[in-house]
Amino acid sequence: MSKYENEINRRRTFAIISHPDAGKTTLTEKFLLYGGAIAQAGQVKGKKNTRAATSDWMEIEKQRGISVTSSVMQFQYEGYCVNILDTPGHQDFSEDTYRTLMAADSAVMVIDAAKGVEAQTRKLFKVCAMRDIPIFTFINKMDREARDPFELCEELEKELGIETCPMNWPIGCGKEFKGVYDREKREIIHFTSNGGAKAATATEVSLGDPNLDELLGQRLHSQLTDDVELLDGASAEFDLEKVRHGKLSPVFFGSALTNFGVEPFLEGFLKMTTPPLPRMAGEKLVDSMDDDFSAFVFKIQANMNKAHRDRIAFMRVVSGRFDADREVYHVQGKRKLKLSRPQQLMAAEREIIEEAYAGDIIGVFDPGVFSIGDTLCAPGKKFKFDPIPTFAPEHFCRVRPLDTMKRKQFLKGAEQIAQEGAIQMFKAPYTGMEEIIVGVVGTLQFDVLEYRLKGEYGVDIFMEGLPYEYLRWITTADGEPVKEEDLILGTDTKLVEDFKGRQLLLFGSQWAVNWTGERNKQLTFSEFSAPE
Ligand code: GDP
Repeated sequence: MSKYENEINRRRTFAIISHPDAGKTTLTEKFLLYGGAIAQAGQVKGKKNTRAATSDWMEIEKQRGISVTSSVMQFQYEGYCVNILDTPGHQDFSEDTYRTLMAADSAVMVIDAAKGVEAQTRKLFKVCAMRDIPIFTFINKMDREARDPFELCEELEKELGIETCPMNWPIGCGKEFKGVYDREKREIIHFTSNGGAKAATATEVSLGDPNLDELLGQRLHSQLTDDVELLDGASAEFDLEKVRHGKLSPVFFGSALTNFGVEPFLEGFLKMTTPPLPRMAGEKLVDSMDDDFSAFVFKIQANMNKAHRDRIAFMRVVSGRFDADREVYHVQGKRKLKLSRPQQLMAAEREIIEEAYAGDIIGVFDPGVFSIGDTLCAPGKKFKFDPIPTFAPEHFCRVRPLDTMKRKQFLKGAEQIAQEGAIQMFKAPYTGMEEIIVGVVGTLQFDVLEYRLKGEYGVDIFMEGLPYEYLRWITTADGEPVKEEDLILGTDTKLVEDFKGRQLLLFGSQWAVNWTGERNKQLTFSEFSAPE
């Protein structure tokens, strides 16, 4: 066991995922409120026009009033040290959103009770499911008209393919949302309103208590009794092992806005989720309890200070303790270095830190030496963490410099930005002319590309949207590159290469993906990049 066992064991690092507007920001804020990291609701809201100081980094963020990159927050709650990784939604959805999930040990999935599973939830869920990390569901906005809770659970199971186990059950919804029934304690947590800014007050009453008719009203009381009977008979049995392997999602109901059900969720979730998980480095499993420090870079945030072309590399500490005074070994750069200006985000404040432990996320100043996926470890060690997959972009543009004389700067700049992971670049060597195609997960990245090429490299670009939405890396059984003439491709499908020489197909529709798959059986498709 590690000498840092106590510190590491109390860490919980999770990402919050949802479709925009489901209530992720509101829930995060309430967590921070319960954790005492902020005193009042309304301090974190880092979006739209009421942005706080959490991410004042990029000019483009300021102009748009949105946060381009995901942020990390730490707070203490009942002995736990909690790290929340926010995943950007709206139009700032990007590959960073996916990568952030690689740094988390579990995910909290916020669902709008009136809407159920939505597009972005589905995408983010898929990435979490790929790693088999625990996924906890919070069905939010119960203070509004909501869909039938049984139906919502069924939808989660059908659409996402995960078993669900309701941990509590809502009593009414909308104006009649009275509380939740705790299935384990067989108790009712009855909420009393408080305006939403402070923690909700709750009284606990057992099911069968004669006062319940008065407390809930006869109708809701008898509905609850029926629901509970049905639930006990029908829903999957709770199994912590399944939860920990991402096979069963515990479901909680509540309302982030009014605080109802937030604390039972936070408590239940922290109890069930795991301390920092190990990570693979080839054959080696790096355990969080290893004494030696190790970390991997999962996000690079560029251009914090335009004058210096600063970047901040965000890393997840995988094992041991990070000590700001000690040198670490950068495996990909093959040299020892001291990480400079290590910082952490505590609620709305950015702080320079001296130490961090496995499970924590730190941001360090990066003079341009780090890439996504890089490993840092104790000097003398040389393992490399498994690479972070590249996720399939969904928007594509053909890009060229307006001034053909600036092609060199254009390529240099675009490659640099691609290396940071903001965009993906592809070549179309099969069409006879040299064509650069840029793919992004969220369209805001096109603006980022344009803005940065102009600002940092002095290159104006011309972008032409392409009608592709799907991408698959392709491989064949013998590992040999395919020849275009050997493929049967429709008119809305294009063969390209990435900058590592791996071949891919771009498609105009899911239908085309299927059509092409059926007619080219020699190909294997992958939504994530093929191994190098
Ligand atoms: P995000 O896009 O997922 O971060 O969602 P926000 O937290 O910004 O919430 C979107 C909108 O829904 C805001 O206007 C919130 O005030 C509102 N909202 C969030 N949670 C609740 C809730 O539990 N009940 C109600 N009625 N509104 C909510």
